Amino acid sequence: MTPLSNSLADADIANVLHPNTNMRQHERTGPLVIDRGEGIRVYDNTGKEYIEGLAGLWSVAVGFSEPRLAEAAHRQMLKLPYYHTFSSKSHEPSIRLAEKLVEMTPPNISRAFFTSSGSEANDTIVKMVWYMNNALGRPNKKKFLSRIKGYHGITVASGSLTGLPTNHRDFDLPAIPVHHLTCPHFYRFGAPGEDEAAFTARLLAELETVIATEGADTIAAFIGEPLMAAGGVMPPPVGYWEGVERICRAHDILIVSDEVICGFGRLGTPFGCQKYGFTPDIMTLSKQITSSYMPLAAVLFSDPIYQAIADNSEKIGMFGHGYTASGHPVATAVALENLAIIEERDLMGNAARLEAQFQAGLQAFADHPLVGEARGAGLIGAVELVADKATRKPFDKLGRAGALASTIGHEEGLIFRAIGDQLALCPPLIVTPEDITEIMTRMGRTLDRLT
Ligand code: PLP
Repeated sequence: MTPLSNSLADADIANVLHPNTNMRQHERTGPLVIDRGEGIRVYDNTGKEYIEGLAGLWSVAVGFSEPRLAEAAHRQMLKLPYYHTFSSKSHEPSIRLAEKLVEMTPPNISRAFFTSSGSEANDTIVKMVWYMNNALGRPNKKKFLSRIKGYHGITVASGSLTGLPTNHRDFDLPAIPVHHLTCPHFYRFGAPGEDEAAFTARLLAELETVIATEGADTIAAFIGEPLMAAGGVMPPPVGYWEGVERICRAHDILIVSDEVICGFGRLGTPFGCQKYGFTPDIMTLSKQITSSYMPLAAVLFSDPIYQAIADNSEKIGMFGHGYTASGHPVATAVALENLAIIEERDLMGNAARLEAQFQAGLQAFADHPLVGEARGAGLIGAVELVADKATRKPFDKLGRAGALASTIGHEEGLIFRAIGDQLALCPPLIVTPEDITEIMTRMGRTLDRLT
């Protein structure tokens, strides 16, 4: 046996392949080893404190030290640590969570299917929609519409829906029939001289054209994040979602709202679709569902979809899809406790109440010489760094302003996410007004040191 390395960093470099990481760079710089968490803060293994300005990966709603979630997991582990949900087996936490999610989501949503990650949930959606359309005798209605810079996961199907080059390149994706529409981000994709209303109209005209060209009878569903998050935090232009909904309804195209980040109050409404006023047929939920204390995701969907799937399962023998951990009892028990805490402490209301302060804090950076745009909604936002404010010229990719900003941010005690040169913030929903002031102070110091 190889002896264990005497330093955690060395052991990491020697043994781990990290997700979404430049591994050669990682070998040179090593990991940031996080050791413990408390409220909105985490501490590394040298004891240094950081405000977790991204709530981990956009996900730790209740903060990093909630004992009630640990106790809920402990209780469930002692009672029934594992059981599955195949072939009509069931257990109370998964039943109660499905019931709770159906109650929380819009009235047309009537069923839940559980997975362990957002990627698996979106993979499940692709398969459910294909299965449904085969069952309904429309075998050609299989294509998905998605958006450039959308993020829907990294498995073969969900990674195909994702519209980010780094998640496709050299993985041979997309590998399912998907058409990526223009990214609905006015600052970067608006044409010269175009106002926001004209931009929305152009995007909707593009959607109509694609449907006409491909044929509505070949397009199964439109998938989108209410506010595009992991691609750079881009709120949609005014009127966008209303238009998408109108066009999809006219052509019998299902709408999938990927709420993995926007769900459970992030935008100040329970779900992102409510912020932007559209009603999806299918929703993807994850992350804040357990505050990421346990891996869990859910697909929520409407009754007509359920009826088609149920009929076909009888006709061909089963709905032949599911995971060993679908509805895992410990994960679903933790989710129930987490959702109870979110309700008791009115954390969705907290996001709504603090939206103005948080967004004003970001807007205050709009005048900074390095910032092209400050943007967001609810308790999520970003500043986009530019090499030239007037021309909006991005930094040369090799300049890696975002990566440098992350390093300085760590020194200043703030963790945010650099997406290229976009610095994203998405703090835990438990933040206070004082915490937001401190986050913006640390972000300001980081930007000043970059200049
Ligand atoms: N969908 C959205 C909108 C996401 O933001 C993410 C992850 O960030 C996913 C899907 C994929 O979730 P996971 O990383 O749990 O597979």
